Amino acid sequence: MEIVTLECEVCGERNYSTNKTKKMVQQRLKLSLKKYCPRCKKHTVHKEVK
Ligand SMILES: [Zn+2]
Repeated sequence: MEIVTLECEVCGERNYSTNKTKKMVQQRLKLSLKKYCPRCKKHTVHKEVK
């Protein structure tokens, strides 16, 4: 398991962290999730950052 941080694509705020399974890491999957951003005050796309 690897912990990754999810960053709002709009404002760059780092709002969430999540676990990636080893399989996901090996497949080099990039997470891209719609999550609520408190700074934007709406749901935005969050992408993983290291
Ligand atoms: Zn935002």
